[in-house]
Amino acid sequence: MTGSRGRVAILGGGMAGLAAAWRLSEPGWRKEFASITVYQRGWRLGGKGASGRGINGRIEEHGLHIWLGYYENAFRLLRECYAELDRDRTDPDAPIRTWRDALIPASTVGVEDCHAGRWRHWVSTFSPNDLLPGEPDAPGGPMSVASLVENALRRLLDFAATLPGAQAPRGRVILSTDPRPPAPPPGIGAGLGLTALAAVLEAATVAHNWIGAEATALDAIDRVVEEVRTALFRASRHDDGLRWAWHLVSAVAAIGRGLIADKVLTDPRGLHALSDEDFRHWIMRHGADPEAAHSPLIGGLYDLTFAQLDGDPGRESFPAGLGILLTSKTFFDYKGAIFWKMTAGMGDVVFAPLYQALRQRGVEFEFFHRVDALHLNDDRTAIEAVAVGVQARLADGVERYEPLVRVHGLPCFPAAPLSRQLADPQAASQRHYESYWDDAPDEQRRTLRRGTDFDSLVLAIPVGMASIICGELIADRPEWRDLVANVRTVATQAFQLWLRDDEPTLGWPQPGVTISAYVPPFDTWASMPQVIDAEDWPADDRPGTIAYFCGSLNAPWPVDRRDTAYPRRERDRVRDNVLRYMQRDLAHLLPGAVRDGAFRWELLCGRGEASGPAALDSQFWVANVDPSDRYVQAVAGSDRFRLRPDGSGYDNLFLAGDWTDCGLNAGCIEAATLSGLQAANAILGRSRRYRIGGYYLL
Ligand SMILES: Cc1cc2nc3c(=O)[nH]c(=O)nc-3n(C[C@H](O)[C@H](O)[C@H](O)COP(=O)(O)OP(=O)(O)OC[C@H]3O[C@@H](n4cnc5c(N)ncnc54)[C@H](O)[C@@H]3O)c2cc1C
Repeated sequence: MTGSRGRVAILGGGMAGLAAAWRLSEPGWRKEFASITVYQRGWRLGGKGASGRGINGRIEEHGLHIWLGYYENAFRLLRECYAELDRDRTDPDAPIRTWRDALIPASTVGVEDCHAGRWRHWVSTFSPNDLLPGEPDAPGGPMSVASLVENALRRLLDFAATLPGAQAPRGRVILSTDPRPPAPPPGIGAGLGLTALAAVLEAATVAHNWIGAEATALDAIDRVVEEVRTALFRASRHDDGLRWAWHLVSAVAAIGRGLIADKVLTDPRGLHALSDEDFRHWIMRHGADPEAAHSPLIGGLYDLTFAQLDGDPGRESFPAGLGILLTSKTFFDYKGAIFWKMTAGMGDVVFAPLYQALRQRGVEFEFFHRVDALHLNDDRTAIEAVAVGVQARLADGVERYEPLVRVHGLPCFPAAPLSRQLADPQAASQRHYESYWDDAPDEQRRTLRRGTDFDSLVLAIPVGMASIICGELIADRPEWRDLVANVRTVATQAFQLWLRDDEPTLGWPQPGVTISAYVPPFDTWASMPQVIDAEDWPADDRPGTIAYFCGSLNAPWPVDRRDTAYPRRERDRVRDNVLRYMQRDLAHLLPGAVRDGAFRWELLCGRGEASGPAALDSQFWVANVDPSDRYVQAVAGSDRFRLRPDGSGYDNLFLAGDWTDCGLNAGCIEAATLSGLQAANAILGRSRRYRIGGYYLL
């Protein structure tokens, strides 16, 4: 029978919605479904990962995006997508034709360490390996804590062997204050660190294999850590390498100790058992030196996951179980490289190809469709209707909005709608289709109805917006009330600079680095020289450096739709933050960009005649304050309030997004992908874990 499962409507075209569409539309899908349609407000796909092409073809991102080497499902999906597009044959002029063109290894990663009032770089180069992320047959399943810990600790021993003071095998991790890390000198510090880590491993193994031996194991850890502390602590005051070795030992020993003491190794809930306590608090409770718990090693994790409550750097929260999962997967489970960076905008290398391949499969896209409300049926068991505002009408003769443009031959999403395809191009240039505060009247009201427009519905609109459009569900079920009350989001801010000189000239010798744990609000910096060629600058104004900065933003929440000045106000505040950062904080990273204590405005590409701080307006910054754009946080104590992709409580409603309970309950592309795949699996009547790669808390 054709289309036996009826029609699928996917609300929201971010990574999660598109991942659901991808799995639902696999070859032969028309036997299952009569249609698959993605409804998306505005003119582009990608949501929090969307990007556009602005003046000089420059890439304008929602925020900097890194793909981690353990993103098994996101890589697999992208690899499938590029293989299906087969651009070598179908679009040989496109400069990015395969997934290997789209993402490149980015092995140099660092944190900033402020000690005795002075900032130092702590830069590590993580050796690549021969594995590739997203292999079609990569195994997956639930994560066993014992194997996770054992694997992590063993690889940590390798890692620690490269700390200053240990004999470093060539090509492994080197930690250094210098952006170009030197070979480590011989010494005693890390030797002791190694002994301590080996002891933790031994103790954890003993405790795991011999239930009842916990006290002995804990005793062994305490003894060895105390010895290391005595030897290292005093010396570490004057030696960065020793101090970092001590921080590492102290944090890892506390994790090992905590897992044993809290009996997590044998707890059937696994790392879920540690969902309610903050990671930092938990390691300190298990003996971590407070200085280690507040070191950039741990701080970097909080920064990369925007863990500041309401954007306040003084109030941070991240669950201990997830902290252990993410750190061990990031550092010890990566394929190919620890980080991967995109060679153009995320809209160009991820969402445009997905759009093209999905269209090729026959998936429909309805742009300029803003979902306003989900309505229940009379007995409140299913979604009966979806209220939609149609934001724009297509120009006469235009059958379907075609959202892509080409820059240097690459299909991309533009930074603004392609108004010539719209009936009222003038209106299009003044509207903010992606904004919750856009108060222009709709072209049309539409109601999508069960049985006519959809049979199954995927809600791939984020939780921040769900609190607005799911009022009936929230009033109906306590789980929905708990979800919106407890799964928190935070606004973010980001800016991008295009500078004339290259990084070595500006005083940073290693282009391509990603640095975190620096000063708020822009604690994270990514050097992005690999995208220069993807942009379209005139020869006499071509950048040598492209730098992305990002952090959380303390914007008031919840928001009021009547306060239409809110987004402008926050944008202006971000501009002030950027200005302050460029004048005060940038010099530590790019010393050559500052002269006599002032930023060298003449370095900015695209500034035209502008000079002084006014030249900043030629660069790009963004305040991500829209309810949909707020980053989904993982806050201690919130995990149990998430709903599973197959657990909406309504017969025909499935959930997709990094805000669901999908086995990796953190705001990232892999979580969004996992969730979308699980929503599709549920619609197709398959098990939750069907063709999910990698080991997660499923
Ligand atoms: C600044 C920043 C930096 C980040 N950096 C990284 C990183 O380095 N690595 C990483 O892995 N992850 C990163 N993330 C997280 C990552 O972007 C998200 O986890 C992921 O994009 C979430 O995908 P999603 O589909 O769940 O939601 P979204 O991307 O938010 O997609 C939701 C979609 O729904 C649409 N929508 C919303 N409301 C409506 C409506 N009313 N009607 C119709 N459509 C609607 C949106 O326009 C969007 O297309 C970052 C996030 C931010 C904010």
